[in-house]
Amino acid sequence: MIEPSHGATLTIDLGAIAANWRRLAAEAGGLTCAAVVKADAYGCGLARVAPALWAAGCRTFFVAHLGEAVAARALLPEATLYVLNGLLPGTGPALAAHGLRPVLGSRDELIEWATLCAASGVPLPAALHVDTGMNRLGFSVADALVLAGDSLLAQAGIDLLMTHLVSAELPEDDVNARQAADFARLRAALPHLPASFANSSGVYLGASAHHDLLRPGYALFGGNPTPGRPNPMRPVVRLDAAIVQVRTVTGGETAGYNARWTADGPRRLATLSLGYADGYPRSASGRGAALVNGVRCPMVGLISMDLVILDVTDAPEPKRGDTALIIGDSLDIDTVGRAAGTIGYEILTGLGSRYVRHYVTGTGA
Ligand SMILES: *Cc1c(COP(=O)(O)O)cnc(C)c1O
Repeated sequence: MIEPSHGATLTIDLGAIAANWRRLAAEAGGLTCAAVVKADAYGCGLARVAPALWAAGCRTFFVAHLGEAVAARALLPEATLYVLNGLLPGTGPALAAHGLRPVLGSRDELIEWATLCAASGVPLPAALHVDTGMNRLGFSVADALVLAGDSLLAQAGIDLLMTHLVSAELPEDDVNARQAADFARLRAALPHLPASFANSSGVYLGASAHHDLLRPGYALFGGNPTPGRPNPMRPVVRLDAAIVQVRTVTGGETAGYNARWTADGPRRLATLSLGYADGYPRSASGRGAALVNGVRCPMVGLISMDLVILDVTDAPEPKRGDTALIIGDSLDIDTVGRAAGTIGYEILTGLGSRYVRHYVTGTGA
């Protein structure tokens, strides 16, 4: 399982990603489902994930940056590719050259893209981003409603209306209904445009959140789109680390930098070949855990750059060269995120490049 050249092995199940994509589409009654594959497919590796999703039937992809989109284009020559972060000044020709679609969120972007379309003699497709609550990217609802009658939209090739949910993972939050109502007004003003509203958690907000195109990211990679309820997605990521040493300490001895942990009696400690430089967050010090032979063992002391200390007293006799499960089974990415005081998204996107990566296709079921 562990290759001796590396301390830890990351296993990514491409079959589970494809199954999750199908599951999300099915949840919305077979609606068209895109895939958000920004940040190197949430840390899972665009080069392997994008072709796997294409093979599963996905035809529309969203990334954050032009550079990510160029990489995606090389992998997916025929896909529809949207660039969420919009049009940075002067990048229009590069987008057009690669057949990429910017998600336009301001009048300046819209005019720059429309000018490029005019110069090329054809409207080049793009999406219109309306901000219904994030105050981050996109036209205000009022500005978009004014824009609805403007020929600029057609000149700029706008072929998709979208907005982004503020708190989709909190179904009880009123902001969801407010955003849905604003989006309904926008759709009424722009009836010819297909529309995209739902991220992963949005898919689980019910039919009124579905519109024409789903836009999930996190759930594809095994994250729970319904926090507090059972995770409907299949796990995608598994991380195993090698045990480098096992030692026994007596009561009163400390472990790790700055002696942040003290043994309350005789304990067995295992040192794992994995640390914060691999993307396992230091903020999980004293709160993280790993599974050794199926037994949950707490991480003790401060997490180091390349090493983590585990209290394996309760695990059946682990030895040097054995492995500990860091992400997988009951230690899913949401759980690891909570232990680190963050969210599973940050765990995924932080998965470092020091691991050996194995891609498997699972059962595909
Ligand atoms: C990242 C992102 C998504 C995907 O969100 P998930 O919560 O990962 O499903 C969708 N839309 C926009 C605009 C995004 O930035």
